[in-house]
Amino acid sequence: MAKVLVLNASYEPLNITSWRRAIVLLLKGKAVEVEHNGKLIYSDFPLPTVIRLRHYVRVPYKEIPLTRRNILHRDSHCCQYCGYLGDELTLDHVIPRSRGGGDTWENLVTACVRCNVKKGNRTPDESKMPLLKNPRKPYSSLYFEITKHLKTGMHQEWQKYVIGA
Ligand SMILES: [Zn+2]
Repeated sequence: MAKVLVLNASYEPLNITSWRRAIVLLLKGKAVEVEHNGKLIYSDFPLPTVIRLRHYVRVPYKEIPLTRRNILHRDSHCCQYCGYLGDELTLDHVIPRSRGGGDTWENLVTACVRCNVKKGNRTPDESKMPLLKNPRKPYSSLYFEITKHLKTGMHQEWQKYVIGA
């Protein structure tokens, strides 16, 4: 179902909501429409794709779950050792688990099966397999979610509100 990007009064992205909820916010006068896609849901009521709240709200920080899917998304489904793009991807512990490496954003990277096997129980230094980039925790869970939506090719009109995502 169509999703709507909600902007704070400051124009910063705030969350992603359903179009039904977005319409309730518009009808209650709590938000104004910023973008629509031209599709009408009622006569002369176009389906919004981006709305903006009239009043600024403060948002608490939300943790991004450390999951296989999220690690793959952070790494753009690309082996962080050789750049391979494809389906046969695994998660690799940069510092192997057997040597004290933990399950963290900084120690888990996407690796193809070949690289994972080749690296084995060694560090990148020992295996002479440097990482393409330093793994880190994504800093905003919202931007992380938004980039997933953008990747589907839908919601391109969101792009200009998420510069730097
Ligand atoms: Zn690889």
